[in-house]
Amino acid sequence: MTLAIATDPVRSLVDARPGSFWLDDPAKPAPLPALAGGQHCDLLVIGGGYCGLWTALLAKERDPALDVVLIEAQEVGWAASGRNGGFCEASLTHGLANGIARWPGEYDQLERLGRRNLDEIEETLRRYGIDCDWERTGSINVATREHQVRELREAARLATRFGAEREFLDADQLRAEVNSRTYLAGLRDEHGTALVNPAKLAWGLREACLRVGVRVFERTTATDLIPQGPDIVVKTGYGRIAARRVALATNAFPSLVRRVRPYVIPVYDYVMVTEPLTPEQLASIGWGSRCGLSDAGNLFHYYRLTADNRILWGGYDAIYHYGAKLSAELDQRPATFGTLAANFFRTFPQLEGIRFTHTWGGVIDTCSRFSAFYGTAARGRVAYALGFTGLGVAATRFAAQVMLDRLEGARTERTELKMVRTKPLPFPPEPIRWLGVELTRWSLARADSDGNRNLWLRGMDALGLGFGS
Ligand SMILES: Cc1cc2nc3c(=O)[nH]c(=O)nc-3n(C[C@H](O)[C@H](O)[C@H](O)COP(=O)(O)OP(=O)(O)OC[C@H]3O[C@@H](n4cnc5c(N)ncnc54)[C@H](O)[C@@H]3O)c2cc1C
Repeated sequence: MTLAIATDPVRSLVDARPGSFWLDDPAKPAPLPALAGGQHCDLLVIGGGYCGLWTALLAKERDPALDVVLIEAQEVGWAASGRNGGFCEASLTHGLANGIARWPGEYDQLERLGRRNLDEIEETLRRYGIDCDWERTGSINVATREHQVRELREAARLATRFGAEREFLDADQLRAEVNSRTYLAGLRDEHGTALVNPAKLAWGLREACLRVGVRVFERTTATDLIPQGPDIVVKTGYGRIAARRVALATNAFPSLVRRVRPYVIPVYDYVMVTEPLTPEQLASIGWGSRCGLSDAGNLFHYYRLTADNRILWGGYDAIYHYGAKLSAELDQRPATFGTLAANFFRTFPQLEGIRFTHTWGGVIDTCSRFSAFYGTAARGRVAYALGFTGLGVAATRFAAQVMLDRLEGARTERTELKMVRTKPLPFPPEPIRWLGVELTRWSLARADSDGNRNLWLRGMDALGLGFGS
């Protein structure tokens, strides 16, 4: 069903400032100096997003005597960690369906470890006094098409079977919660999601790292990893650092371990926020629980309220550029913002006339199993974790623990998981890669309209590569 909209979506966008709403904050900390000259440390963490920050912080918590250095190419939190939707989710598997399809034998364990990870994040924020507008609101996945209602019912049934808490809501129950004429049903996860201000989370973790004695250098790009005797020598723009162990937390950027590169492609995801809603506008929607929302399509929107009652609205288009191109100019995509705005007003026509204040994009590290994978190089002295595929706000902390386990050579419940021991299939080289991604996107959009997975998607499902399978 396509509903007409009264507002011209483009008019709602003309005043929007390009750039992340979260990073546009006077509380942004001043940058730290770059690394210069020669340094030595026990553990070097490369990358200052959540994954690197958690790795550095947890390493110091495990052993306060450890000399830990973190280097970041630009500024802590400038990339995905300062641009995301702020859905801090317990799921380590990019959702229930993906997790159950891939690791049915250990899914209940993954669900439990994911919940514990989320609880421990909350506890850490409290312990260090990190203010990141944390709200443990839960989330609802909404169906806007009939076939999605069936899928949510099936997901509710699977959740019960695998010990995961989910509650099916019919249209009346859902609309009593959040008022949109597009809603047909919902699946609530009451405890598995917190909403955060992503940039404040990154800056808070940076401050916590500094407080426990992590040496942080910004504007410092690692260009090479060279095993040398007992150390790994890492070259940077103005210096070099010799480290006993190295953790790579470089997400969608080209990995310093070259053989890992075919496993991840950078995919652009886009987000916008509105001006703050007036009390009347908010009342017209309801949204008393302030829960995070997403729709159940393959190409889905995610949306939520910010602390000052704006609506953040993102997702839907996920764009891969030929040759894995990364560039600051790709952060803006007017065509996508137009589509997002049109879909926004279809969902909430009662907000006619509201304006968007910020539009931005960021890169996600997509892998073919849609959830992170782990590995080591240089005979166990370098660890990496990547492939979070757009669900890494909380999962990066779990990944940090896995990297530290691996670097210590420890066998833990985490390292024994099949999810941790296995890798996804790599992507093929260009031009097959680009063609494959485009064909998949086109097929997924079709599947969203009629609920049928075409031959291509069914083939991908059979290979374990199907999104939503
Ligand atoms: C638009 C958008 C919306 C999203 N929404 C959500 C959401 O709501 N919920 C969710 O769970 N996830 C979401 N994600 C995904 C989530 O943001 C990421 O999974 C998470 O931030 C990854 O953290 P990270 O530390 O691995 O990566 P990043 O934050 O990308 O950090 C990697 C860092 O490594 C640095 N780096 C790279 N190479 C080098 C080098 N050679 N030397 C030095 N430094 C280097 C980079 O400069 C960068 O700062 C979203 C992502 C995007 C882009």
